[in-house]
Amino acid sequence: MGKMLEKYQEKRKFEATTEPSGEKGKSPAGNIFVIQKHDASSLHYDFRLRIGDVLKSWAVPKGPSTDPSQKRLAVPTEDHPLQYADFEGIIPEGEYGAGTVMVWDTGKFRNIGEKGLEDSYKEGKIKVWLEGKKLGGGYSLVKTGKNWLLIKMDDEKADARRNPTSTEPLSVKSSRSLKEIKQESKG
Ligand code: MN
Repeated sequence: MGKMLEKYQEKRKFEATTEPSGEKGKSPAGNIFVIQKHDASSLHYDFRLRIGDVLKSWAVPKGPSTDPSQKRLAVPTEDHPLQYADFEGIIPEGEYGAGTVMVWDTGKFRNIGEKGLEDSYKEGKIKVWLEGKKLGGGYSLVKTGKNWLLIKMDDEKADARRNPTSTEPLSVKSSRSLKEIKQESKG
């Protein structure tokens, strides 16, 4: 694993945070995605897709939409270890990403692009079919310069009125709110 997660590991002190180091632990199998709601210096949603042996990651300030007319800014961030898909808890004050992390949605996905995932990532044009608990159907990620856009594809799972970031705010892992995760993690 080592080199692939160098940036991830450099940013963190694993004696201070309970986030996985990526050096040990069982990796989840198959094509997984996770969307982590992250109440850090500003609230955002971290969208992560397994490509190869890492979770490719983007910070989406407004979160994903189910409305195909909404293009959501997705700022690429460092690759995360596969074990991160299960991480929910707090990152202590003073540490990188300090704040509360919730598993807002997760599940399997399929590549529906014309090329393999690694090539699609390099070209900046990814199309995936998500099978989450909250989100489903096709999503495209399109690179536009330094940043990317996350866009719902117009299919049977598209719904301009749903707005799940507002109406479904709880964890799919623990059914907890951000506030409950914060309180219970301090113990
Ligand atoms: Mn984040």
